[in-house]
Amino acid sequence: VTTTGKPDISREKSAELFEKAKTYFPGGVNSPVRAFKSVYGTPLFIQKGDGCHIWDADGNQFIDFCCSWGPLILGHNNARVREKVTEVMQNGMSFGAPTALENDLAELILKNNKYLEKIRFVSSGTEAVMSAIRLARGYTKRDKILKFEGCYHGHVDALLVKAGSGLVTFGETSSAGVPKSFADETIVVALNDREAIKKAFDEFKDQIAAVIIEPIPANNGLLLQEKEYLQFLREICTQNQTLLIFDEVISGFRVGFEGAAGFYQIKPDMVTYGKIIGGGLPVGAYGASKEVMSNISPEGPVYQAGTLSGNPVAMAAGIAQLTELLRLGFYRDLNGKTQEFTESIQRFATARSYKFKVFSVGSIFWFAFTDKESIRSAEEIEASSMEKFKLMHRELLNRGIYLGPSGYEVGFISAAHSKVELEKAKRAIFESLDLVF
Ligand code: PLP
Repeated sequence: VTTTGKPDISREKSAELFEKAKTYFPGGVNSPVRAFKSVYGTPLFIQKGDGCHIWDADGNQFIDFCCSWGPLILGHNNARVREKVTEVMQNGMSFGAPTALENDLAELILKNNKYLEKIRFVSSGTEAVMSAIRLARGYTKRDKILKFEGCYHGHVDALLVKAGSGLVTFGETSSAGVPKSFADETIVVALNDREAIKKAFDEFKDQIAAVIIEPIPANNGLLLQEKEYLQFLREICTQNQTLLIFDEVISGFRVGFEGAAGFYQIKPDMVTYGKIIGGGLPVGAYGASKEVMSNISPEGPVYQAGTLSGNPVAMAAGIAQLTELLRLGFYRDLNGKTQEFTESIQRFATARSYKFKVFSVGSIFWFAFTDKESIRSAEEIEASSMEKFKLMHRELLNRGIYLGPSGYEVGFISAAHSKVELEKAKRAIFESLDLVF
């Protein structure tokens, strides 16, 4: 029995599987945050997902707000995605040669996104960012990259410097194994600090190839930026012939079909995608103007390749998912539902004077144990607030609600989260908040 009421759900089978997994994988997992290191208990091994629900190996059912960390904007096991994938699979899994499916997915994206002219598919968000950085360097013939404290861009060597995600979760802000000389090419500044950027451009004049930002930083809490600040980045990059890269691995197709670029109406020079673009299968992409993209091999001198790039089965999942997103009213409904959900949780917490804020944009939300009206940079988050998240996470699991196992991670709502399920989730959240405070 927990100190706060309900008995803990059974995790017997998950615990058994985790013990076995530990003999095979470092820490028992294939991606660090999954290990439940900063929340209570052993990780849950998931057996099945359907709509907004997942079931673990012990048969516990949850309303899932992690949604595979963002890709599943239609929810689990969406029928249209499953059917398209099943159909395409009948013809084989991979050819290492072009297929029409690549054209179809590219056409869907480029015809409905005024910020890009050409795109290339890769297999993960990390790969997309890594390739975009190389292209920016090749195109500008400069070496330095400027990134922001708390923004995570995948596990690319030079960008594992003051990144969010698993790194901040574990209290580290860098990784071993990254040569100092690589990290030296990366300039890190705090978010929402214009002077720091001006200073960096002064100090490294004509040396900065690209400024890379998550325009909606969502890997270190949800650090919502003001549009004027993003506009300022746009201008200072233009003035310095530096490329502005929007890492839209989370925000792409999430806050709208055109991602954060469309949401803020700011044109980046390059964009990276992952997660939603693959409908739950491994796809990433980077895109830019024809001119910039013409520098990629075999058209230009910047090399980038992939055995499974543009894999037909993965393309099929992406096509099926993105087609749904283009239906009239899709984002209006999803974002409206999310707003209702987050506002009602906020009203509950405010009425009880809890030190608790729900930050939200589109269908992304973040529970912050703070009384600040806004949090725009990593250092504004109090590390001690994570203790409360840990308690809340345990109570939510006991009440059938699954959140990503870290207080620095955001939650996602999918089209499959019905109003009835969101009402249920709210009640569980209210109960858990009452216990935590
Ligand atoms: N960029 C951002 C903004 C991300 O959130 C992530 C992953 O969470 C990545 C890049 C890396 O993507 P992947 O995990 O697919 O390599």
